[in-house]
Amino acid sequence: MPEGDTIYRAARTLHRALANQTVTAFESVLPKLERVEIDTPITSRTIEKVEAQGKWLLIHFSGDLILLTHMLMSGSWHIYRPNEKWKRHRAHMRIVIHTAQIDAVAFNVPIAEFHTADSLRRRRNFNQLGPNILAPTYDDGEILRRLRANPDLEIGEALLAQSILAGLGNVFKSEIAFVCKVNPFRTVATLSITELTCLVATARKFLQASVTDNSGDQIVTHTGRRRTTGRIDGEENLFVYKRRAQPCRRCATPIQSRKQSPSARTTFWCPTCQPM
Ligand SMILES: [Zn+2]
Repeated sequence: MPEGDTIYRAARTLHRALANQTVTAFESVLPKLERVEIDTPITSRTIEKVEAQGKWLLIHFSGDLILLTHMLMSGSWHIYRPNEKWKRHRAHMRIVIHTAQIDAVAFNVPIAEFHTADSLRRRRNFNQLGPNILAPTYDDGEILRRLRANPDLEIGEALLAQSILAGLGNVFKSEIAFVCKVNPFRTVATLSITELTCLVATARKFLQASVTDNSGDQIVTHTGRRRTTGRIDGEENLFVYKRRAQPCRRCATPIQSRKQSPSARTTFWCPTCQPM
């Protein structure tokens, strides 16, 4: 699952490339999307903006039409000059938005739907999104309220719940808990307001630091470089994620890992720095 920063960067890249451009052709191998091109053509509409909301990517066309995509584990958006050779095989293509200057190509996106503003408001999972951790105006009070409304949830799971806060993924979940010295298996009810505030503030800090890094903006995939320790060295850029049995960077205790329910995503932590 991509982190919200990856989607934010994808949206920013697509926005810069596509905003105010006119669609010259639209292709899709997805029958439902093809149908929309026939019934209410996308061709000749203007692309108004591209934005991220949580882990969803929204492309707004003139005339109240919105393309909603989610990359899950496998999807990516690429941008190419017309006639430039694609870096993925055509068999993986799902959508192409052609403009005079740019072709935006979605490969293997598992969720792609057209909506009006109204149908988007009613779409399940989308309309339940919590505050976006990367929004320019953010509401920590609301995130804290949503966290505390789930007192029995383990914090490692709560941080992934897109209905509580939108945009955080599995890598940052473990990193944030380490920075705040919180054991990820503690329930929300056991956490102090100071600990909860630390988790939310650190989540924002990491994601924002990641989106201000402009490198690698041409091709956006579900992976992406992560950096939380402040070191750019590939071996030293994370505190605990995927460091099982390696020494803690604070206290040298071996890092532990195990799958956390119900998402079954692997959680990494230091048993000394993050006691239960
Ligand atoms: Zn430690």
